Amino acid sequence: MEAPCTTLPASDEAIARAAERLHDGGLVAFPTETVYGLGADARNDDAVARIFAAKDRPSFNPLIVHVADLDAAGTYGAVNDLARMLAERFWPGPLSIVLPRLPDSGLSLLVSAGLDTVALRAPAHPLAQDLLTRFGGPIAAPSANRAGEVSPTAATHVLESLGNAPDLIIDGGHCTVGLESTVIDLCDERPAILRHGAVTREQLEEQLGAVDDASIPESGAAPRSPGQIARHYAPAIPIRINVTDPRPDEAFVAFGVPGTNNAAVELNLSPSGEVIEAAARLFATLRELDRPEFTGIAVAPVPDIGIGRAINDRLRRAAAAHAD
Ligand code: AMP
Ligand code: MG
Repeated sequence: MEAPCTTLPASDEAIARAAERLHDGGLVAFPTETVYGLGADARNDDAVARIFAAKDRPSFNPLIVHVADLDAAGTYGAVNDLARMLAERFWPGPLSIVLPRLPDSGLSLLVSAGLDTVALRAPAHPLAQDLLTRFGGPIAAPSANRAGEVSPTAATHVLESLGNAPDLIIDGGHCTVGLESTVIDLCDERPAILRHGAVTREQLEEQLGAVDDASIPESGAAPRSPGQIARHYAPAIPIRINVTDPRPDEAFVAFGVPGTNNAAVELNLSPSGEVIEAAARLFATLRELDRPEFTGIAVAPVPDIGIGRAINDRLRRAAAAHAD
């Protein structure tokens, strides 16, 4: 049975307990100036997998990593001149900046949904700042609501939406901005807005000049440019799914029961057959096996329950990326 979630009014004591929970791999909901975030240690694969499970997301999309300031951001992402300029103008504040991940960032690959990039944000809310300082590490935090529900702007919304999934909720009253952070991608030559939010396009263009709009249109309308199709991780070699009899030249990804030993090499997403553990290992496992010496990666069936749905969604897309 899940332990009941504790809601604590904001205090030094609450911040200290929240930092402890994060260190232990727990989930902590906390206020930012935009909405309440559901936070986990961004370096801990299992904790990050628990975020996806708690939100019941049907797919893996990368999460925003919260940091105290630009210095901290520089330990995880390759900060360039534009990023420095934006951080000096808008941080702490509701702007998330997507940068190349540093190879030795130590961040969970799941946080980036397997991509080589990371979205970084230094939030302005004093409680979020206190928690980041006390914890002393990066906090992955999407909005603290189940997938498909509106973002929470009060502690009671978090409890209503997520029930006992967070270990702790810090109640800091109502969020002042209420809108999500703006997401800007600085990985390519031209900066591109990936999500509109509290920092406006006009404010960004004052700093950067012309900025592309690569945000995904609402209501499933066709994207206006190919750049608007969200980037997803897929291995370079082909991938086959729902495989029980891998070929000798393939790498095999087992789930639960081991394979038949036919494959060139075998890794197990979760020997005990747990989908959250499998999610935690998914991207690291695919990356490890993505080598030209194999003709492809064969993946055993993964149950389509809970976070298993997001695993299967990612595997299906990766398999389709190679289909003609
Ligand atoms: P949320 O999970 O609600 O906080 O939303 C996070 C937003 O940031 C989503 O629109 C993500 O697609 C976007 N995002 C986070 N990390 C990345 C990344 N590395 N590359 C592109 N978009 C990102
Ligand atoms: Mg959200």
